Amino acid sequence: MQETRIASEPATVLDGMKEDAESKKEGSSDRFAPAGISIPRLRATLNGRVITPEDAEYDSVRTVFYGGFDRRPAVIVRAADPSDVSRVVLLAREAGLELAVRSGGHSVAGHSVSHGGIVLDLADMRALQIDTDRRTAWAQAGLTAGEYTAAAGAHGLATGFGDTGSVGIGGITLGGGIGYLIRKYGLTIDDLLAADLVTADGQLLRVDAETHPDLFWAIRGGGGNFGVATRFQFRLHPLETIVGGMLLLPATPEVIQSFVAGAEAAPDELSAIANIMPAPPMPFVPEENHGRLVVMAMLVYAGGVEAGERAVAPFRALATPIADMVKPMRYPEIYPPEEGGFHPVAVARTMFIDSVDRRTAETIVDHLQASTAQMAVTQLRVLGGAMARVPVEATAFAHRGRRVLANVAALYQNPGEAAVHEAWVSSFAAALHHDSLSQSGAGVYVNFLGNEGEARIREAYPGPTWARLRAIKARYDPTNLFRLNQNIPPAK
Ligand SMILES: Cc1cc2nc3c(=O)[nH]c(=O)nc-3n(C[C@H](O)[C@H](O)[C@H](O)COP(=O)(O)OP(=O)(O)OC[C@H]3O[C@@H](n4cnc5c(N)ncnc54)[C@H](O)[C@@H]3O)c2cc1C
Repeated sequence: MQETRIASEPATVLDGMKEDAESKKEGSSDRFAPAGISIPRLRATLNGRVITPEDAEYDSVRTVFYGGFDRRPAVIVRAADPSDVSRVVLLAREAGLELAVRSGGHSVAGHSVSHGGIVLDLADMRALQIDTDRRTAWAQAGLTAGEYTAAAGAHGLATGFGDTGSVGIGGITLGGGIGYLIRKYGLTIDDLLAADLVTADGQLLRVDAETHPDLFWAIRGGGGNFGVATRFQFRLHPLETIVGGMLLLPATPEVIQSFVAGAEAAPDELSAIANIMPAPPMPFVPEENHGRLVVMAMLVYAGGVEAGERAVAPFRALATPIADMVKPMRYPEIYPPEEGGFHPVAVARTMFIDSVDRRTAETIVDHLQASTAQMAVTQLRVLGGAMARVPVEATAFAHRGRRVLANVAALYQNPGEAAVHEAWVSSFAAALHHDSLSQSGAGVYVNFLGNEGEARIREAYPGPTWARLRAIKARYDPTNLFRLNQNIPPAK
């Protein structure tokens, strides 16, 4: 068994903060305490860090990935261990304060920061134990997808997460997890073997197929509604070299349609994402293409190199590539380093669609060309493969049969433009939905859902899933303590 602890802060910084906290006068810290909370007592009780508006790092710690959520929590607790998590859960319950739970802070809806309440931040809980013999890993929820993947990759092993290394394993796992290994190994939750969960009564439960199976079912897709996951046990797959990377093609309707058809016809080893957007002015993009609509495709072939080159060839042949960075690489390289300080303001819509025909592809091109946003993008993720082979009722993610996940988004800076981009996104989403002739309703993947109301949350949980989730919620969180999320109200 290998233990890896990925430190977020050097120990000296942590020690210094504790001293600083201890040297503060009680009264001064309590000026910021909401009713029912004594900050000095909290600091004395918890093993982790307690950050209030008085602290220099308050602004950086309350900041989440997406811009536009300028919320000021009364207190942010950087939990050190499950006992801290349990204490904070009980405190929020007893003090009647809103509780935001955060792992990687990438919530699309801004759910990982509260205004006036408590933020329970798991970013300091990043231990990872890898059992190379059993091919399993216990990972604390504060790890990011990139950190986990790099550590597992050192042993030639992998679990699939999403397309972005900085996304937290906490949020992505609980919502499902759609990424580069989806067709080969399924959703992230299809590799989830167990979890440790602090429920609304402060208890730490081991949850797996045998122990609390109802909870284990619910947390595989039901998001943060049922408790705070402190760590997850994942299955690992042997995965050394992939053929993968970015392929940039001109975005004509023909290319878009053929790309999706090719990705659906490809072997399960290949998972593909098409980002259709104006070409960014990046060094690998020839200048004459800057601003032109392109398919920025991300491909991963999780198999042998020769077979991978064969599987990728039809995509390279769709048009003369503007840039071709698809090559054999170690799997963790698919998550390049990311620049910090990027906090986009976005308006977005997510849906499943059942086909990308010529008309749908034209709709995409027309709408993207009409947008006045700083950046307008459509993302098409081709599903199927291993994800589709898991029975619908096996987990709370019940969209197993859907073929393509589509996200449309406008990124902008000036808040005064919000209404224009909102209208653009709405009409684009309606046209896509109509064009795809979906028989089964749009449906949504909960992890890409914004603040769109209960009807849209229900779309994430079709058929009997919604009622089953509500019944389990009533059993484990009857007062709806965990409500700052894509909320599933307890059954009455
Ligand atoms: C740039 C970007 C790329 C993305 N790419 C993908 C992708 O490829 N595939 C994909 O499937 N999704 C993707 N997502 C969506 C992503 O899965 C969700 O936003 C997810 O919630 C982020 O997890 P987090 O831990 O970073 O977020 P947080 O903001 O920390 O958490 C989001 C919510 O999840 C719940 N939660 C988080 N951690 C816990 C926990 N430990 N216990 C209980 N509840 C918890 C809480 O309700 C919280 O409000 C992407 C998002 C972004 C911003």
